[in-house]
Amino acid sequence: MHVVVLGAGLAGLSTAYELAKAGIRVTVLEREDYPGGMATSWQVEDYWLDHGPHRFHSRDEKLIEHLYEVLDNEVVIRERLSRIYMQGKFFNYPLKLLNVLKSLPKGLMCRAIWDYAWIRCVQVFKKIPDDNFENWVLKRFGRTLYEMFFGTYTEKTWKRPCTEISADWASQRISQANLWDAIIKTLNPPREGEVRSLVSEFWYPAHGGIGEIGRKYAEKTRAMGADVLLSSPVTRIDIEDDVAKRVWYRGPDGGEQAVECDAIVNTMPLPRMLECFRPEVGPDVVEAIDKLEFMGIVFIYLEVDLPSVFPDHWVYLPERNLTIHRICEFKNFSDSSAPGDKTVVCCEITCLWDDEHWEITLEEGAKIAERDLVTVGLIEPGITRGIDMHKLRYAYPVYDLHYKGHLDRMRKEVKRVANLQTTGRQGLFRYNNMDHSIAMGRRVAKTIVKGHDARAEEVAAGTEYFG
Ligand SMILES: Cc1cc2nc3c(=O)[nH]c(=O)nc-3n(C[C@H](O)[C@H](O)[C@H](O)COP(=O)(O)OP(=O)(O)OC[C@H]3O[C@@H](n4cnc5c(N)ncnc54)[C@H](O)[C@@H]3O)c2cc1C
Repeated sequence: MHVVVLGAGLAGLSTAYELAKAGIRVTVLEREDYPGGMATSWQVEDYWLDHGPHRFHSRDEKLIEHLYEVLDNEVVIRERLSRIYMQGKFFNYPLKLLNVLKSLPKGLMCRAIWDYAWIRCVQVFKKIPDDNFENWVLKRFGRTLYEMFFGTYTEKTWKRPCTEISADWASQRISQANLWDAIIKTLNPPREGEVRSLVSEFWYPAHGGIGEIGRKYAEKTRAMGADVLLSSPVTRIDIEDDVAKRVWYRGPDGGEQAVECDAIVNTMPLPRMLECFRPEVGPDVVEAIDKLEFMGIVFIYLEVDLPSVFPDHWVYLPERNLTIHRICEFKNFSDSSAPGDKTVVCCEITCLWDDEHWEITLEEGAKIAERDLVTVGLIEPGITRGIDMHKLRYAYPVYDLHYKGHLDRMRKEVKRVANLQTTGRQGLFRYNNMDHSIAMGRRVAKTIVKGHDARAEEVAAGTEYFG
C-alpha cells in the first residue's frame, strides 16, 4: 500500500510519521522548501522567528507524551501571559473578571454590570438567537463588554461587521461562556488536578522555535524510510471511477512528475486540492470554491534595542487607531529564541488578499509597527530595525454567514472519491490549533493502518478536539 500525503504541515507530518511507524509506504508532497506549514520557524541573524505566537497546549496527556517523543524531550514549559490593550490599559486575556472590573473607570464598570443584567432580563421574554457573532457575545456578556473586548477586535481582524460573522467562530474561540461563568471561575480558582478550559500552561521546543516540531517529524519520518519531498507542489490528481489513481507534482527542477497511490490524505487548502481534480469538478463546486474566503496575515519582525519589551507571550491591540492587531515576543517562549541584550517583536496585520497592507514592503511595515509600539507606550521612537517580513496567505478560514453551505458542497465532492481523506486546518477549513492538527493526523493514520473505512469528517472533525 502506498499513501500520498498532500502538505507537510503538522497534520500531514503527523499522519506520515504514524504511517511510516506502522511500516506503510508513504510519500509527503510539500509546496514550500521547509516542513511545518504555518507552524514553521526560521533563523534571521541571532533570532528564531515564528509566524506570530505559537504555543502548544493540550489537555490530552498522551498527546503531550507524543510531543516529548517527537522533540526528544527537548521541551520547555511556560505559564501563559497574554493581555489586551484597551483605553490605555492592559487587561489579562482571557478576561479575568476582577482585573477587568478593577481596571475599568467606575462609570464604565457600572454600565458593564447594568448591560449584563439588562440582557439577561431581555432574554427572559425574548431569546436572542445565536445567529451571528455579535448576538452570541452580546447575550453572554452584555453590550459594554462586547464593544470593548470582542466587537472592535473581531471587526478589526476580520474586516467585516460582526453581524456578518458566523456564531461558530465565537463558540469555537471564546471559552468563558458568559459573564456569570466568568464570575464563578474568577472567584473559584481551579482545585489541584482540575482541568479548566482556559489552559494556562503550554509547551514549546527548547531550541529552534515552534518549527522544531515539524523539522523533527520530517527527519524521523524520513529515517523510517518515507519520502518527504519539499518544493514539490501538487498540481493534479487523476481520478478514475471515483478512485484517486495518481498525484502529479512539480519537482524542484520544474518538471512534472507523478506518483501512483492507493490512498490520499489531504492537508493542503481544500479549495486548492479540489482545483487539482482531473476530471475537473463541476460548476457548483467551482462556485463554492470561489466563495470560500481566507484571511492572510502580514508578519513584521522588529528588532528592538532593549533586552525585553513586555513580559507577555502576546498582546492584542484591538483599537482602530492602531494598524497592528497583535504583537508577540519570542524570547518569552524560549530563552534560545533571542540573545540577551536585544529582542524581536513580531507585529501582525490581518489582511484580505486585495487589502492595502497585503503589498507593503518591510520598510513600510517596520515604520507602521514602530509607530504603533510607540503609541501603546512600549518603546521610545528610533530603537527598532525591521529584520524580516512574512506573508501567510491561508492564515484564517473566514466563517462568514454562508461558509457552511459552500463547505458542505466541497465535502460532498471529497466524499465521492473512495480513497481520499481530508484533514488538518486547511483540509477541513476549520479554525483549529496545532494539537488538533497533530491529533487528527494521527487518527487518520490509525484508520488507514487498521483498515477502517472511517471518513475524515467522522475521524478528523470529532468534537473531542473542538468541544
Ligand atoms: C498567527 C497564527 C498563530 C497561531 N497560534 C497558534 C497557537 O498559539 N497554538 C496552536 O496550537 N496553534 C496556533 N495556530 C494554528 C496552527 O498554526 C495550525 O493549527 C497548524 O499549524 C495547522 O497545521 P496543518 O498541518 O493543519 O496546516 P498547515 O500548517 O497550513 O499545512 C498545510 C500544508 O500544505 C501545504 N500546501 C499548500 N498547497 C500545497 C500544494 N499545492 N502542494 C503541496 N503542499 C501544499 C502548505 O505549504 C502547508 O505546509 C496559529 C496559527 C496562526 C496563523
